[in-house]
Amino acid sequence: MSHLSELAAIVGNSYCLQGDELQPLLIDWRGRYQGKARCAVKPATTSEVAAVVRYCYQHQLPLVPQGGNTGLCGGATPNESGDSVLICLERLNTIRNLDSANHTITVGAGTTLSQVKAAANAANKLFPLSLASEGSCQIGGNLSTNAGGVQVLRYGNTRELTLGLEVVLPNGDIWNGLRGLRKDNTGYDLKNLFIGAEGTLGIITGAVLKLFPKPTSQVTAWLDVPTATAAIELLAATQTCFGDNLTAFELISDVSLGLVLTHIANCRKPTSAPSPWSILCEISSQQDSFQTLSERLENFLDTHIDSGHITDGVIAQSELQTQTLWALRENISEAQKREGFSIKHDIALPVSVLPLFLSEMAHELENVYPGIRIVAFGHAGDGNLHYNLSHPGDSSDKGLCFLAHQHDINQRVHDRVSQHNGSISAEHGLGQLKREEIRRYKDPVEMQLMEAIKKTLDPQGLMNPGKVL
Ligand SMILES: Cc1cc2nc3c(=O)[nH]c(=O)nc-3n(C[C@H](O)[C@H](O)[C@H](O)COP(=O)(O)OP(=O)(O)OC[C@H]3O[C@@H](n4cnc5c(N)ncnc54)[C@H](O)[C@@H]3O)c2cc1C
Repeated sequence: MSHLSELAAIVGNSYCLQGDELQPLLIDWRGRYQGKARCAVKPATTSEVAAVVRYCYQHQLPLVPQGGNTGLCGGATPNESGDSVLICLERLNTIRNLDSANHTITVGAGTTLSQVKAAANAANKLFPLSLASEGSCQIGGNLSTNAGGVQVLRYGNTRELTLGLEVVLPNGDIWNGLRGLRKDNTGYDLKNLFIGAEGTLGIITGAVLKLFPKPTSQVTAWLDVPTATAAIELLAATQTCFGDNLTAFELISDVSLGLVLTHIANCRKPTSAPSPWSILCEISSQQDSFQTLSERLENFLDTHIDSGHITDGVIAQSELQTQTLWALRENISEAQKREGFSIKHDIALPVSVLPLFLSEMAHELENVYPGIRIVAFGHAGDGNLHYNLSHPGDSSDKGLCFLAHQHDINQRVHDRVSQHNGSISAEHGLGQLKREEIRRYKDPVEMQLMEAIKKTLDPQGLMNPGKVL
């Protein structure tokens, strides 16, 4: 029997795809990578995943795990050899258990993030991971990229939200680590090896995730600030005043907002005058009513308008207004995509360094590339910026020629991030996009340790080849 018929015998004929059905799975969300694969299989259970992986291990077939395919580094796109088997986890989409007293939910890896959030919500709980891609991305993908999003400053990355994992190892063995424990000092913390591994060490099939009490009230505000320095000073003041009640603090440049207003329907600037920077800030509480929380925020804002940290601001008064404000932030990536080609960076720096980085970097890039548009926005509360660069607006090819400068621009941005002890991948991972680049910045000893781990767990190098390492 051929490999295809053997694999189809495991998952069922209609879940072993080739030809036209396979094509959309071979291209990444940004449309930057196009690969080839022998076939795509869609197993329905952990045992089927294990049987597929064991078969591939025995016949030395490379495997590429794919979740919602919303990753931004080409991690879920196979290489061009056409040897790989793409393994899609979407049918592992069951909520296996919700333990209300333990504040945990156990889910299959193919469950979308919004399904997990809805299940938590139905039990009057919160699963706080929040990404603009949550309707499509899957928990297995979130775990494998250690996704961040807009509430990390309060609840942490996916890693901090995870208590246990179930993983199919590269030889097909199943590791059942589905423990819902907050304390477990029984040796190495293996789950943390697989979180953020981008499918290079095994296939995550299930997870135990932490739940939190649902806030009873939430206030969202749009604040214009005169400088990035004012934004970071305001962050510190907000944290001092609201503590754990501060659940989001997003920085948005005027260029980023401008793209949204140009390309996304029904969006308008919430304040009247132009402002170089704005903040989208969210305060949540389990005790205060909306009214009380809103008044606390208003008093706080008055003080900071007086001190010059805020030039103008709006507090959302309804769920619709809240969604309208969030749409301005969540549509930046989409608007930038519609504007044309761009060169993207997902960087992390100590929060205190952000203003200096922004001014140094703008000075350098604007000198070398006159007219370059700096689309800087992101999770300022975590020191994480999406530092994206768009072509000067006059280009007729939507910026295709601008991509010729990618290598030089990447190096300039990443060198400066490295000088400030930052990271060149805050939340999107390495995938194939930054696989070479990381060698320039990561400690060689750290790289050797990563290679040693990969060799131990996946000696044949079959798991997601060409990604991360
Ligand atoms: C509009 C938009 C907004 C976004 N916003 C954010 C954001 O705010 N924060 C953020 O962190 N990311 C963000 N992302 C990126 C992306 O959504 C996340 O990286 C997400 O976690 C990827 O999940 P996925 O299921 O789509 O994974 P995929 O793209 O399918 O895969 C990502 C990687 O994980 C591996 N993988 C997938 N499933 C498994 C599995 N079960 N076992 C082992 N390996 C697996 C793949 O091989 C690949 O290497 C955004 C993306 C878009 C398109």
